[in-house]
Amino acid sequence: MTRAYIAVLPGDGIGPEVTEAAVRVLAAAAEVYGLDLECERFPFGGAALERCGAPFPEETRKAVLEADAVLLGAIGGPQWDDAPRALRPETGLLELRKALRAFANLRPARVLPGLEGHSPLRPEVARGVDVLIVRELTGGIYFGRPRGLGETEAWNTMRYTRPEVERVARVAFEAARRRRGHLTSVDKANVLEVGELWRRTVSELAQAYPGVRVEHQYVDAMAMLLVQQPTRFDVILTGNLFGDILSDLASVLPGSLGVLPSASLGEGPSLFEPVHGSAPDLAGRGIANPTGAILSAAMLLTYALDRAEAGRAVEEAVAQALAQNPTPDLGGTASTEAFTRQVLEALYTKA
Ligand code: ATP
Ligand code: MG
Repeated sequence: MTRAYIAVLPGDGIGPEVTEAAVRVLAAAAEVYGLDLECERFPFGGAALERCGAPFPEETRKAVLEADAVLLGAIGGPQWDDAPRALRPETGLLELRKALRAFANLRPARVLPGLEGHSPLRPEVARGVDVLIVRELTGGIYFGRPRGLGETEAWNTMRYTRPEVERVARVAFEAARRRRGHLTSVDKANVLEVGELWRRTVSELAQAYPGVRVEHQYVDAMAMLLVQQPTRFDVILTGNLFGDILSDLASVLPGSLGVLPSASLGEGPSLFEPVHGSAPDLAGRGIANPTGAILSAAMLLTYALDRAEAGRAVEEAVAQALAQNPTPDLGGTASTEAFTRQVLEALYTKA
């Protein structure tokens, strides 16, 4: 059994509380599924600014680059809002993402059984929603050149190369293979040449994944369908700009920020973190919802360690705990600690 080494960056606000929960669940999953995991904590964000004077200290950089995966809590808080750029927690996050060379951002949005009432969608539409958005992160119009701002005009360039599309599409096909075998590729091929190349590249790669059913949608239609018929979709692959918009749209479907996980995969070790921020209003009160962090740990098992079975078991344990008694943000009375124990119990009971 090879040992997997996880660099844990608890960060600020509720970050340390939800990360602690996720690490406990990871350790339990490792025990149940026979994995040798070592989790080590490193300073990052505001916590690192206070301890080491930099948001992404050298010690932490070295650790994450040697790790098999990185688990991050959340960073930031009002005390750093007016700090110069180099002394802001957010600067550390930008440096971290750059160091890991992530090119694919994975954002699942699932409406868990019993939580349909929290979704802004009608319960009968929300029931069973379970999508994964795969967004390209390093290319497209956010980075394309030329770009510029003049007195009376401004311009940006949407550009993608075939290898850029291929590598992110491969991540999406692999995810679809592990999930329900359905991939929806989103572009604007009726108006943009980039969309044509995108569509052609995805269709060609589809030959290598005969088990995955591929569908193409225009981004405008997709925005509509995600609200009207979200259960039609499984994995949704798209570029940087459209992915930015669609992942925000999808993130409101479950109805709570606290339940959303994310993964960033790239050339270096993968990064796993909840979508929510440091929630300074809840920090230290022991009532933060650790679901997003725990589900990020489940993604770590699936995508970084290739242990999808363990990842699914964690997801199911979380679903069970949410049905039993959630944290106050979802109308329950469980503390972070009590909720985490419910997840651990469900995980051990099932095994
Ligand atoms: P950031 O600026 O870091 O992106 P934000 O300030 O926009 O973050 P969050 O800190 O993510 O937003 O959260 C906004 C509010 O949502 C919090 O103040 C909190 O009340 C609620 N919230 C966020 N995450 C959680 C959680 N895990 N459990 C319970 N409530 C949460
Ligand atoms: Mg904030």
